[in-house]
Amino acid sequence: MLCEKCKADVPEEEMFQFGGQKLCEDCYIEIMSRPKPCDPGAVSAAKAARELQGHKGTKGLTPIQKKIYDYLKKKGSVQREELAEYMNMTLDELQGHFAVLRHCELARGFKEDNKYYFTLMDK
Ligand SMILES: [Zn+2]
Repeated sequence: MLCEKCKADVPEEEMFQFGGQKLCEDCYIEIMSRPKPCDPGAVSAAKAARELQGHKGTKGLTPIQKKIYDYLKKKGSVQREELAEYMNMTLDELQGHFAVLRHCELARGFKEDNKYYFTLMDK
């Protein structure tokens, strides 16, 4: 069989499938090792670490992070200052806890009319 990229003649059992193409081992490795334009390393590392520990969804969050999550769940989207007040912490402290939720793809922040809001990640 011919590799669809470099046209090398390779036995079928040595071909690799990638994105609907049949490739030889060299081309496959080259594609797989290519640097990705967007590196979601931080997110996948956080997710992988949690999954390794058997944590999925909100399990494995600290009580503070869980409280933020529950509040967002109840309120929908919440202005950053309101959430900081509710949590009785500074914006910097809140941002630190929120970063974990964001890394685990549970919540996200957005800006509207020059105000920052937090909300849960759309399912
Ligand atoms: Zn090839």
